[in-house]
Amino acid sequence: MSMDNIILEVKDLAVKFKMNEGDVYAVNGVNYILPEGKSIGIVGESGCGKTVSSYALNRLLPNYANLSGQILFKERDGSITDIVKLKPEGKEIRRIRGKDISMIFQEPMTSLSPVHTICNQISEAMILFQGMTKKQARNRSIELLKLVGIPHAERRVDEYPFQFSGGMRQRAMIAMALARNPRVLIADEPTTALDVTLQAQVLGLIQDMQNEFNLSLILITHDLGVVAHMVDYIYIMYFGRIVESGPVLEIFDNPYHPYTKGLLKSIPKLRGKRGEKVSSIPGTVPSAYYEPKGCVFAARCSHAMDKCVEKSPEEICISAEHKVSCYLYSGEEEEKNAADAG
Ligand code: SF4
Repeated sequence: MSMDNIILEVKDLAVKFKMNEGDVYAVNGVNYILPEGKSIGIVGESGCGKTVSSYALNRLLPNYANLSGQILFKERDGSITDIVKLKPEGKEIRRIRGKDISMIFQEPMTSLSPVHTICNQISEAMILFQGMTKKQARNRSIELLKLVGIPHAERRVDEYPFQFSGGMRQRAMIAMALARNPRVLIADEPTTALDVTLQAQVLGLIQDMQNEFNLSLILITHDLGVVAHMVDYIYIMYFGRIVESGPVLEIFDNPYHPYTKGLLKSIPKLRGKRGEKVSSIPGTVPSAYYEPKGCVFAARCSHAMDKCVEKSPEEICISAEHKVSCYLYSGEEEEKNAADAG
């Protein structure tokens, strides 16, 4: 199997949770690729499965989750490992988590240990996976804290997370992720808990680190505005599926899926007309216990047709890299639209 220039390929990924009320598919048939040294954005509303799909990459799911499909990861020696086939607590996935795929979580205060110093938490992976001595790891921790813009790093490295502000904790998390020398960095809503000025700084820092360390980046967000300047490709996710994907400029200039169009319209404009309202997508995401037979967006789509609720639309290629799952662009419907217009 060839994965030239691709570090991660996700194929038909599904995550099912067995609940008392029945089975729930948080992710259902997701496909995407992460080219080496590039960045992709996975975008969608809360509850669309974007975080669950990213936790699956490191097998960080609860034990009642059932995982299927393939997560093909290109190792440093070029061999391919299917992460789905690894034992969730086995040596191999711990090695990948410890060295290759790092995560920056949404809320650092819940991810950092409150009872260990920042130094201990950054050093841990370097001592465990890179064989550094405590002193070497401490020196490297200070270097990393400086790199991510923590002032007085020599002193602050011995402080606890509660002594850091929200922005500094997120910077410390980034330093912790970089300490592993990862090849893939997953940033899950990394700025949600920060105010607007800090958001811009932290996103800029992630971008700088990506360039400096040639990282392959997966940015998970509900905010299309955030990904615009950060990623090369976007995957739009809705109710556990990818509904549209493509190069970032193509999606912004020429969105096809009604959901993508709705998301783009809901970004506030800096130079909008006075009194102009930000539009929203009517309705809500369906209940997780409801498994629609047809298009997952049908209940909220103003273009829905009879066939939309009967059968899921196939994925259609708009261009070499731009794909959409919507009946509006299946050949038959396009001809009809053209005839109606004529
Ligand atoms: Fe709307 Fe139908 Fe397209 Fe789904 S397939 S987005 S319901 S037009």
